[in-house]
Amino acid sequence: MTSGSGPRWHVAVAGAGIVGLATGAELARRGHRVTVLDKEDDLARHQTGRNSGVIHSGLYYKPGSLKATLGTAGASSMAKFAEEHGVKADICGKLVVATEQRQVPALLALLERGRANGVPVRLISPAEAAEYEPHVACVAALHVASTGIVDYRGICAALAEQIRQHGGEIVFGAEIVGIRSSFEQVVVTTTTTELTAEQFVNCAGLHADRLARLAGLEPSVRIIPFRGEYYELTPPAEHFVSGLIYPVPDPTLPFLGVHLTRMIGGGVHAGPNAVLALAREGYTWRDVDRHDVADSLRWPGLWRLGRKYWRTGAQEVRRSLSPKRFLASLRELVPALPDDCLVPSTAGVRAQALHRNGSLVDDFYLERGIRQMHVLNAPSPAATASLEIGRRIAEELESAP
Ligand SMILES: Cc1cc2nc3c(=O)[nH]c(=O)nc-3n(C[C@H](O)[C@H](O)[C@H](O)COP(=O)(O)OP(=O)(O)OC[C@H]3O[C@@H](n4cnc5c(N)ncnc54)[C@H](O)[C@@H]3O)c2cc1C
Repeated sequence: MTSGSGPRWHVAVAGAGIVGLATGAELARRGHRVTVLDKEDDLARHQTGRNSGVIHSGLYYKPGSLKATLGTAGASSMAKFAEEHGVKADICGKLVVATEQRQVPALLALLERGRANGVPVRLISPAEAAEYEPHVACVAALHVASTGIVDYRGICAALAEQIRQHGGEIVFGAEIVGIRSSFEQVVVTTTTTELTAEQFVNCAGLHADRLARLAGLEPSVRIIPFRGEYYELTPPAEHFVSGLIYPVPDPTLPFLGVHLTRMIGGGVHAGPNAVLALAREGYTWRDVDRHDVADSLRWPGLWRLGRKYWRTGAQEVRRSLSPKRFLASLRELVPALPDDCLVPSTAGVRAQALHRNGSLVDDFYLERGIRQMHVLNAPSPAATASLEIGRRIAEELESAP
């Protein structure tokens, strides 16, 4: 689809994760010339290539928020895109389980939220839950039919192909180190090239706030990296999980709690937890970047967040350091999991924006500059919602005065 007689720009997009690629593909389909720049040597090297691979339904998000509207629409558009481009996906549905009576009110609140967002969600009994997941333990559960699993790297490859087919390009090994914009143009300097464009879109994930500052903005939020660590179930234990089993999440936090997820490429992932990472790309406890740590500690919001959630944070760290505790969390969902069923797997780091006052930015969040658009909060379910986020960005750019 093209936008008819609108402007035709050269647009520089920072980041070849799913948000940058979806935005680039949308702009390219509308007739703009797109150059996607990424510092890595391939697509989806960070959040996108290290996530749970779930097409979320839109269940959890505040009605009317961008996460709810773009997430719910994104669940359909992502499934459709996968089908049209031959990318592996399976809309297998999922369970959210209350394992104790005291979790039931929160489960019912989630049911209401899901219904308000138009998600096909049903309250089911333990007996019905056992028909989906014979080994699950619960006092009540929600079944969500529109949740699925997908190969997000495959989606990225298809989006990159679309960009190229429309005359665009993806440049790897190009770390953006300078952005200067005027009323006429934007000059983007990378470690390998300099590029002059009419618009700049920042989809740099874990570094998005830094690029915004580089471009002359004073963003009102700071990205704080939260690592999510995964285990895999050993092949003999895989039969304990048929699809996707989630706990009732803490409604005050944007994390879903460690869950069990059958992956589209095979196997079952367990996780992710949420611990403060000591580097923006800190995939293990050994990855420490002094500059990143200092950057986080200088942000007053982190101290305020720490004062509020230090107990939860300490529990997460203990669980991160102890596979036994990790297994104990999983056994709340599936008690029959045997002792030796977990093998350490990959980790991902979430780019979570934090306000100065210590509140986590709940919704997707964008800021604009002259000839610039910055995506400053695109955590989960942004992979699911990426095609809708791309469309929204393209519409906003085209409708700007
Ligand atoms: C553990 C985990 C599990 C998740 N599970 C799910 C899920 O199941 N479903 C779902 O919908 N969402 C999930 N998410 C969220 C989802 O993965 C992210 O919202 C999404 O991938 C964000 O994509 P992005 O393109 O914004 O960022 P990224 O994928 O991080 O891409 C940003 C890109 O910018 C590049 N970059 C950064 N700085 C520069 C620079 N200076 N110059 C050039 N390039 C630069 C990076 O190299 C990177 O390639 C999960 C996230 C995590 C971490």
